[in-house]
Amino acid sequence: MRYGFVIDQNTCIGCHACTVACKTEHDVALGVNRTWVKYVENGVFPDTSRTFSVMRCNHCKNAPCVEVCPTRALFYRGDGIVDFDTERCIGCKSCMQACPYDALYIDPADRTAQKCNFCAHRVEAGVEPACVIVCPEGSIIAGDLDDPSSRISRLAGRPDASRRAVEQGTEPSLWYLGANDANLDPLAASPLGEGGGIWRDAEPGSSWLAVDLTPAPSGNGSSRVVYNTDHPPPWGWKVSSYFLTKGAAAGLVLALAVAHLLGADLTSRWARWGVPLVAGALLALTGALLVADLTRPGRFHYIITKGNPGSWLVRGAWILGADALLMAVWFTLGVGASRASPALVWIGVPLALAAAGYTAPLFRQAKARNLWQGRTLFAHMLAGALAAGGGMSLIMSALAASPGDSPQVRGFTWTMTAGAAALGVLAAMEALGSHPTANARAAARHMLRGRWARQWWLGGQALGVAVPVALGIAGLATGVAPAAAAGGAAAMAGIWFADDAMVRAGQAAPLS
Ligand code: SF4
Repeated sequence: MRYGFVIDQNTCIGCHACTVACKTEHDVALGVNRTWVKYVENGVFPDTSRTFSVMRCNHCKNAPCVEVCPTRALFYRGDGIVDFDTERCIGCKSCMQACPYDALYIDPADRTAQKCNFCAHRVEAGVEPACVIVCPEGSIIAGDLDDPSSRISRLAGRPDASRRAVEQGTEPSLWYLGANDANLDPLAASPLGEGGGIWRDAEPGSSWLAVDLTPAPSGNGSSRVVYNTDHPPPWGWKVSSYFLTKGAAAGLVLALAVAHLLGADLTSRWARWGVPLVAGALLALTGALLVADLTRPGRFHYIITKGNPGSWLVRGAWILGADALLMAVWFTLGVGASRASPALVWIGVPLALAAAGYTAPLFRQAKARNLWQGRTLFAHMLAGALAAGGGMSLIMSALAASPGDSPQVRGFTWTMTAGAAALGVLAAMEALGSHPTANARAAARHMLRGRWARQWWLGGQALGVAVPVALGIAGLATGVAPAAAAGGAAAMAGIWFADDAMVRAGQAAPLS
């Protein structure tokens, strides 16, 4: 049994009855939709047409929203429907980043993620979904795709049947008949631009407005979206800032380990209790940022108590928790000791690498955001941790007036300089390399040449790479600690600028 939809765009008249019936059936709030009708106008007067596509959850067989959901609020039913449980949702919005179809929204009243659930309550009662019943054209067909004799199976097998974004590997259970490419491909039509929409304009910042740098539309070159539903970017500065705080926390341990390898004897106050104290505070700040970004922050503990072990949000929480525990032990033992325990430092290294790097597989689970799927993201996270941790260690060393030519400070300077240089190499690979999908190319253009280019180049690369590398080399050559500390401050600021540009540009390419 695998329930699915076929939507016949040959007969759809774009009347929005399905949208309204769905809103009534599920008491959907104003401003958000479980299903909606996208309008695209094609051609040049007098040879013009208006085409429609009905958008909603595709009830994927390999649903990335189910995989990433940290609390199993999204789940498969045995009949192929992808359903959700608002009682488990913490509002992390990761499902919105994973769904390639823009199907999910945060309900303004309940503050939980919601979407089409195939009217599961109606299906259980033996009646069809509300949109199917109300459609005056009979354009929405629901049924069992696994039954080869069913009407829906025959329709889905027609040559003019197509699905959205199959390259994402989601195996969607929604087929369109006769749909225009410009309707199904969010990058194939011009966005709502100067011509305006037929009833409304886009909200500023909504993703369907942000395709100004996409290639010329395909087809006849004159298709443009005139009606759609807004999908504002789910993640913002709190997520960008969490990159920096957890990266710096991890990097403090890595920088001390490098310094130890270069001859630092771990007897300094910084080594005994400074590192675990500051790293612990940064981990606490990381947790605070993550909790503050939830739309249901009071449920943050569900990540542990109702956790989905397949989600990297949950694995990340375990890693950060273990790291925080180690910092507490290190600090407690270090306060009264004459030397930090080398064993604790070396135990801290793999934990720090995990804390810095787990964001890469987490962002890879955000399958809708192709810019974040690059192979270098893990290396980028580690390089950022080294640059930020080394940089912060140098700032603290300067405040403590530590001699610049000590093995400890030299180790920190090497760490920051190497990390910043690696960030520069990775940035060059990003700028000069190719991106495999249209979504990734559109997002990369936003980051490298569009709205976030100044932030990425000047803030991320000039301030975050060139300045710390130059000042780090100067610090190593002269043994003057303040120069390297200034480089450390520049590295930390630059990492934030570059990562914030990546987070925002990654969400700029439209999905519907
Ligand atoms: Fe629906 Fe999107 Fe989840 Fe697929 S990934 S099941 S379309 S919400």
